[in-house]
Amino acid sequence: MNKTIIVNQDKCSACGDCQKVCPQKILKIRKVSSDEKRNMSFFQRIDCFYHKNNKLEVIDPENCIGCGLCLPACCHKAITLEDKSFQCVTIE
Ligand code: SF4
Ligand code: SF4
Repeated sequence: MNKTIIVNQDKCSACGDCQKVCPQKILKIRKVSSDEKRNMSFFQRIDCFYHKNNKLEVIDPENCIGCGLCLPACCHKAITLEDKSFQCVTIE
């Protein structure tokens, strides 16, 4: 497929609903590491705490088949599918 997933981390609540529907299993909720927290701004740390130190990670964007099932699963509209010519997969 010529589509790739982009996750806007500012909108993502790390709820994991998209993870449940992805047939490729490339969406993963994981804990934010101490190193990552050290590099966060004050507001990003508050956000991280509010999301129980969880974060959505696209673990293998190349395996996205562009099915679009994750789009309606996200009530925060944090996911978009873009042409693969766009390299970025997350927006911090
Ligand atoms: S478009 Fe399909 S394959 Fe790609 S991340 Fe979303 S659910 Fe998974
Ligand atoms: S469904 Fe949306 S808000 Fe929930 S983890 Fe996925 S991208 Fe984030």
